Amino acid sequence: MFDFYEDTLPGKANEARIKGLKEITDREFTVKLLPGNRWVLVSSKIHKDTDGLVQTYLFIRDASGLKKRERLFAYLNQAAAALAKTRDTSGALSLVAQLIVPEFADWFTIDRIKNNLLELLLLKHKDAAKIEWAYQYRERYPADLNSDSGPAVVVKTGKPGFVPVVTEEMLDLVITDPVQRGEVKKIGMQSVIIMPIFINDKVGGLVNFITSAAGHYFDEADLEFAENFAHLVGLALENARINEDNAAEITRRKQSEEQFRFLTDAIPHKLWTASPEGRATYYNEKWYEYTGVHGFEALKERIWDHIHPDDRTITAVEYPKAIQAGVPVEMEQRLKRHDEAYRWHFSRLTPYKDEEDKTILWVGTSTDIHEQKVAGMEMAALNEELAAANEELMSMNEEVAATNEELGAANEELISMNEEVAATNEELASANEELAAINEELTDTQASLLRSEKLFRSIALNIPGSLIIVIDKDHCYLTIEGDLMTRLGYNKNDYEGKHPADISAERYEASRSLYERVIAGETFSVERKADTGQSFIVHFVPLRDGKGEVEAGLIITLDITEIKQAEEKSAKLAAIVESSDDAIISKTLDSIVTSWNAAAGRLFGYTEDEMIGETIYKLIPPDRLDEEPQILARLRSGERVDHFETKRITKDGKMLDVSLTISPVKDTMGNIIGASKIARDITERKTDEARKNDFIGMVSHELKTPLTSLSAIMQVVHEKLKRSDDGFLAGATEKANTQIRRMTGMINGFLNISRLEGGKMLIEKQPFELNRLLHEILAEARLTATAHTVQLKDNVRVTVNADRDKTGSVISNLVSNAVKYSPKGKLVEISYQVRGNMVEVSIQDEGMGIKPQDIGQIFDRYYRVETNHTRHISGFGIGLYLSAEIIKQQGGEIWVESQSGKGSTFYFTLPLATDQ
Ligand code: ADP
Repeated sequence: MFDFYEDTLPGKANEARIKGLKEITDREFTVKLLPGNRWVLVSSKIHKDTDGLVQTYLFIRDASGLKKRERLFAYLNQAAAALAKTRDTSGALSLVAQLIVPEFADWFTIDRIKNNLLELLLLKHKDAAKIEWAYQYRERYPADLNSDSGPAVVVKTGKPGFVPVVTEEMLDLVITDPVQRGEVKKIGMQSVIIMPIFINDKVGGLVNFITSAAGHYFDEADLEFAENFAHLVGLALENARINEDNAAEITRRKQSEEQFRFLTDAIPHKLWTASPEGRATYYNEKWYEYTGVHGFEALKERIWDHIHPDDRTITAVEYPKAIQAGVPVEMEQRLKRHDEAYRWHFSRLTPYKDEEDKTILWVGTSTDIHEQKVAGMEMAALNEELAAANEELMSMNEEVAATNEELGAANEELISMNEEVAATNEELASANEELAAINEELTDTQASLLRSEKLFRSIALNIPGSLIIVIDKDHCYLTIEGDLMTRLGYNKNDYEGKHPADISAERYEASRSLYERVIAGETFSVERKADTGQSFIVHFVPLRDGKGEVEAGLIITLDITEIKQAEEKSAKLAAIVESSDDAIISKTLDSIVTSWNAAAGRLFGYTEDEMIGETIYKLIPPDRLDEEPQILARLRSGERVDHFETKRITKDGKMLDVSLTISPVKDTMGNIIGASKIARDITERKTDEARKNDFIGMVSHELKTPLTSLSAIMQVVHEKLKRSDDGFLAGATEKANTQIRRMTGMINGFLNISRLEGGKMLIEKQPFELNRLLHEILAEARLTATAHTVQLKDNVRVTVNADRDKTGSVISNLVSNAVKYSPKGKLVEISYQVRGNMVEVSIQDEGMGIKPQDIGQIFDRYYRVETNHTRHISGFGIGLYLSAEIIKQQGGEIWVESQSGKGSTFYFTLPLATDQ
C-alpha cells in the first residue's frame, strides 16, 4: 500500500503501525523521487464511520528543506569546533577545504583582498589536474575588482552573490572574450555562491562555492550555510593570524632578552635588578666576576657580606627608604672583591615605573671608583662623568616611560581585539571559548615579555657611548642603534638596509673576516683604537633562530676611552707611587691603612699585606700616640700638614726620624674620607744636625769660660777707671762691658739652642713674682739702650709658675729686639695683664714692623727678615725661636701683631701660680 516508502527500519516499523491501524504523528520517511530522494513527514489518522468502516487518512509534508538545514548546521558546528583548534593560517585553510569539497561544493576558493587585488589563498577541487588548470586560468584572467560583475560587486556591496542556476546564456552575456568563455564553460558550472569575508567589519576577502555536478543546485539553505561558513572562515583566519603574530613576537622578544643579557654583561658596570619590594631578581656577569660568588641564589644570599661593615648601616637605611618612597638613591660603598680587597664603588638605585607611576622594577648599578677615590684625583672629571651618566639615566627613564605608554596603548588594542574575537566566537560555537582563554593567556605572557624586553632594550640602548648593529647573513646592516653613532656624526639612514661594501669597500674588507666569524657562529670580542685616540671594545654575538641556526650577527661597540684613560692614568700613578723613594701611605679617618707602597715597605719593614687593613698606630712610638688625633683633627678641617717632623718606629723596633706631609682625601661630594701621607726618612739629616748642635754646644761652652773671666776683669777695670781723669778710658771700659754683655748673650743663645735640639734644655718651674723680674730687666735695658725710652706699665703683683732664668731671657730678647729694630728715640713699652689663669705679657715698639709674609716664619730657627734695613743689624735668627720653645714648654703661647713701618707688639702668656 505504501510502496513509495523507503525500505528503512523506522520506515518499516511505521508502516507496520499504520497497517495495524495505529495512528502516527510526524514520522520521517525518505521518498524516492527523481532527480533525488526527498524527506517527508507523515502523520496518520484512523477514522471509523457509523457503518463501522475504518479509513486511514495520511498527511504527508515535504521536509527536505528542513532536513537539509538541520544537517548543514550540524556540519557548521563541527567545522567551527575544528577551526577553533587550529593555530596557524595554512592549517585552518586546509581544514576548511576538506570540509567543503566535495561534500558541499565541487569547486571552492578563498581569496584575500590586498591592494585592491584578489590574492588566492586556497583553491580546492577533488581532481588535481583540474586544480592545475584552475590556477592557470586565474593567472591568465585575474578578477577585476573595478568591474561591475561577480566578485567585484560582492566586494563593493558586502552582499553575497548567488546564482542558483547558471545558464549558457548568462555566460555568453557576462564573458565577452570567446577564448575565456570557452575556458569557463569547461567548468560545467551549475550553481555559484560568492560570500564576502569580513575582517574587522570590512570586506577582507571572498569565499567562492561552485557546483559542477549535473543537477546539483544551491538553494536558500545552502546560501545561509555559505554565509555562516564564510563568517567562520573570516574568524579562523584572523585568529590564526593573531596566533602567528603572537608566536613570532614571543620568539623575537625572547631573543632580544638574550641580547640584553649579553649587553648587560658586556658593560663594565655592575648591574642588578630587583622586584618592587627590593628583592634582587638579576645580577649581571660582572657581579659574579667581582665577588667570586657564582649562581644567582648564592650571590643573593651573600651580597650583604660583600658590603663593607662600615657601609652597611647607611645601605640598610638608605635603600629601604628609597624603595619605600619610590625615589632613586645614590651612595658610595666599599664592596668586597673575591680576593677580600675592598674597593670603593658609586652605587645608584633607580625605580622603573609603569604608566600609573607604580614601581615595577628597580635597576641598580655600581661603578668602581676606587682609583679616583683613593688617589684623591680626577674628582672633577668623575663628577662630570657621573652627572652625565645621571642625565643619561634620567633621559632613559623618560624614554622608558614613553615606551611604556606606547606599550599600554598597544596592549589595550590587542586586548580589545581579543575581546572582540572572543565575543564573536561565543556566538558561533562554545569551542571558541577555549581559544579566547588561550589568547588571553598569550596576551598576558606577551605583555610581560614586552614590558621586560622594552625595559631591557632601553637600558641597553642607553648605555652611554654604545653602538649596536645587527647584520644579516650577507653582512647587510639590518639595524643600527646607539648614541655613539650620532656622536661620531653618522646617520643611521645611511646604513640601515645597505651592504657595507656599498658604503666603503675598503672598510668592509677590513671587517669582513670578523663578520664571517660571527655569522659562522662564533662569539668573540676585539679592542680597537681609532685615529682620534678613542678606544672601543667590539663584541660579536651570533643571533640564532628557533632551530639554533645563525640568522644574524649582533655587533656591540662600546666606547671605553675614558676607562682606558683612567686605567692608564691610574697605572701611571701606581707606577709613580710604587717607584717613589718616599713612603706613600693612605689611610681612612679611622687610621686604617688602605694603601702601602714599596718604599713604605723598605722604610718601616712591613709588607703591604701586613699593613693594609691595619691601624697606622703600629708605626707610632708610645710617647707620641697623641700626635695622630691632632693630625686627624687638622685633616678633618681640610688642612694639610706640611713637613711635620717626628719619630716613627719600624717593624724591628728601630726609631726613625721622619718628615710627614699629609693631605686630606676627598670624595666626589667634597667630604673628607681619608688621608694620603708621604713619609720621608730624615734620620741622617737629624744625625748631621745633632752633630752640628753638639759642635755648637761645645764651642759655646768653651768660649763661655774665658769670656766669664774677661767679663769679671773688665768690670774691675771699669770700677777702677770710672773716676779716672782720662775721660776716654772710662768711656772705653763702659763700651767694652756692653760688648761683653752682648757676646755673653749670643753665646748663651747658642748654648741654649744646642741644648734644646739635643733635648737637654731643662725647664725648672717654680713660683716667682713676674712684676719683679720685669723691673730687673727694665733696669738692665735702660743701662744698655740709652738711645731709646723703655717703659714698664706696672700694675698688680703677679706670681707665675715658670722657670725664672729662662723667662727672663725671653723678655730680655724681646726687649732687645724692640730696641734693635726701631729707630733711636722711639718708645718701647712693656706691660702685662691677667687673663683667666694666665698672664699675658706684651712688648710694644714703634719700629719698622714685620711684613705679613714674614710673620709666619720669624719664630723659625735661623729665620731673619732680609731687607736693606735689617742687613746692618747683627743677629742669627735664633732669639725668637728659642723664646717660642721656652714659652711653649712652659705651657704658654707666643705671637706677634705688627704693621710694617708702624711697629710690632710681641705677646706671650704663662700660667699663674695656683696659690694666688
Ligand atoms: P735676630 O734678631 O738675631 O735676627 P730673632 O729670632 O730674634 O733673631 O728675630 C728673627 C727676625 O725677626 C729678625 O731677624 C727680625 O727680622 C725680626 N724681628 C724680631 N723682632 C722684631 C721687631 N721687634 N721688629 C721688627 N722685626 C723684628
